[in-house]
Amino acid sequence: MTDPGARTEHEGAAVVFPAPGHDHGRCTQDAMAVAEARCQERGQRLTPIRRQVLEVLLDSHKPIGAYEIMERLSPSGPRPAPITVYRALDFLRENGFVHRIESRNAFVACVHQHVVGDLVVFLICERCGSVGEASSAELAGTIRSAAHAAGFVPKSPVIEIGGICRHCETAGS
Ligand SMILES: [Zn+2]
Ligand SMILES: [Zn+2]
Ligand SMILES: [Zn+2]
Repeated sequence: MTDPGARTEHEGAAVVFPAPGHDHGRCTQDAMAVAEARCQERGQRLTPIRRQVLEVLLDSHKPIGAYEIMERLSPSGPRPAPITVYRALDFLRENGFVHRIESRNAFVACVHQHVVGDLVVFLICERCGSVGEASSAELAGTIRSAAHAAGFVPKSPVIEIGGICRHCETAGS
């Protein structure tokens, strides 16, 4: 038996919904470090705009829309051209640093270090708006074989599930 109290908050990818009072500075730092390391590995540049967009998204675990990103990039003063922001988002998505939540038409920073193209299950809390990423090798296998049986090649399987996260659930109403 393992002692659940012995687990630290950041241990492994098991923390799908980080607790409200968690050390979010560490999520941000870790994700930024991963992005920097991966860019270096691939010989890509984390340009200032790409970095800024990622920073805005790393502000929380809640998805935000493209217009809100633009607004947060420059609360006062001139906004960056939308195309610049969309290009930065494309880059961040292609490299797996950011995901698009189709049902919300919004983007969320990925704090899990999974492979690009992995099956991602987004658990979207309808109360606090947080998005958790769950992964399941079993589910991925089921989807792969279902797709294979249909003669279909899945490229970026994504599942979005709405519900209530465990922190909202225990907090009651
Ligand atoms: Zn966090
Ligand atoms: Zn992810
Ligand atoms: Zn919640």
